[in-house]
Amino acid sequence: MAIIASNFKTNHTRNTTSSFVEEVNKYLVSNNISNEVYIFPTATSLDKFDITSTLNIGVQNAYATQKGSFTGEIGTQQLDEFDVNTILIGHSERRHILGESQDEIAKKFAFYSDLGYKIIYCIGEPLEVKEQGLEQTLEYIYEQFEGININYEKLVLAYEPVWAIGTGVTATSEDITDVHSAIKSKIDKPLLYGGSVKVENVRDICSLNGVDGALIGTASWIVDDFIQIIENTK
Ligand code: 13P
Repeated sequence: MAIIASNFKTNHTRNTTSSFVEEVNKYLVSNNISNEVYIFPTATSLDKFDITSTLNIGVQNAYATQKGSFTGEIGTQQLDEFDVNTILIGHSERRHILGESQDEIAKKFAFYSDLGYKIIYCIGEPLEVKEQGLEQTLEYIYEQFEGININYEKLVLAYEPVWAIGTGVTATSEDITDVHSAIKSKIDKPLLYGGSVKVENVRDICSLNGVDGALIGTASWIVDDFIQIIENTK
């Protein structure tokens, strides 16, 4: 059984999310799927999901608060309205573009794990670190576990090398298995791979040792492709 997750990032409108979800739900109910399927839509489209369906919903981000004065953020008071209990934490775009520090990420992790949320926790190295070799890559990744309770029951990890995200350059099988087996030897949690996963490579990637599924951006934004990705890994 694979975990297949689509991260919409800042893509899709309420309208297109609605039809996307409808199509995926239709596919899931009429096929015998053992995969755990997730969509992380934009916060503005959280109400477009049918919580009784087999499709799981998560948020791409939220602040470590129930409510309060945090301009531009959402907290659990808002998430509760949509019965959301899954959150993505530590995505490379939040670390590198939005400037989230490891300290902030760890606080967010502690807050949402205390509330019992399922957490998909992302880690991954930039190109300049990868070029220094596996040892440096692992060292960099292990630093991203600082302040994180790796024994948290509802923790799922996602290894997303920064250089593979949105670039079309997928990590090689060797890259993936090297990092996955090292992480798995320390942390016994489901571990997804993310970074230019596509319809054509998802089956091979998900059948690698130590890969429990995929976190997908670009290739998952077209509904037919996302369904094909689920189909290829069922
Ligand atoms: P791409 O699939 O576009 O490389 O994005 C991966 C990702 O960042 C998923 O969170």
